Amino acid sequence: MIPGARLIILGRQGAGKGTQCVRLSRHFVVPHISTGDMLRAAVREKTPLGLAARAVMDAGSLVGDDIMVGIVQERLDRDDARTRGYILDGFPRTVPQAVALDAITETRPLTAVIDLDVPRDLVLERLSARRVCRDCGTNYMAKGSERQPWICDVCGGDVMHRDDDTPDAINNRLDLYEEQTEPLVEFYGRTGRLTVVDGVATPDVVFVRLTEAVNKARNR
Ligand code: AMP
Repeated sequence: MIPGARLIILGRQGAGKGTQCVRLSRHFVVPHISTGDMLRAAVREKTPLGLAARAVMDAGSLVGDDIMVGIVQERLDRDDARTRGYILDGFPRTVPQAVALDAITETRPLTAVIDLDVPRDLVLERLSARRVCRDCGTNYMAKGSERQPWICDVCGGDVMHRDDDTPDAINNRLDLYEEQTEPLVEFYGRTGRLTVVDGVATPDVVFVRLTEAVNKARNR
């Protein structure tokens, strides 16, 4: 395995993206940059960004492109991302974000853009049961009887039901994904940069598919 890569993982929320990104970031020794995690940290710390983003996130809507591009540009400029690369999870979410990212990465182009494909009805089921570590972002599936919060096996943080995982907010996010984010499949496909990975399988099988897709993209 060669460390380092610059990756984008697209896919509906609930496709297993978060968990796979944590695993991929360890495998390729690159930071996992989740814009959702960054925003949730800002909400917890009550920064001006967090205060502005909270209502938007709770409603399952999207934070403005300019704000998001600014946050990501700043993060990709840090040493770890410049030298080793990164996995972007949750960004870009719109075509204007993708256009801005192309400008940001002009001198260090993306290694691969992967669409982790899972059908809508399946992710609806998964999202209702989803619990997430608020410190490291590891995802868990609730069986219904657990106490809240649980302790994360990976980092010891609190595992919570996300405030925005209510049925209305979930449906809103899935509609929004189809409207705003699915056009990215065409955006990256047009320039031959997209690999679609079938996300309907066990997490271990999907992980192998993802690492193979990254390695193949590297050799292109
Ligand atoms: P996620 O954890 O990726 O599902 O993100 C949680 C919420 O944060 C989303 O529902 C949006 O409100 C917001 N968010 C995260 N990333 C972005 C982005 N790239 N553009 C706009 N809003 C975002």
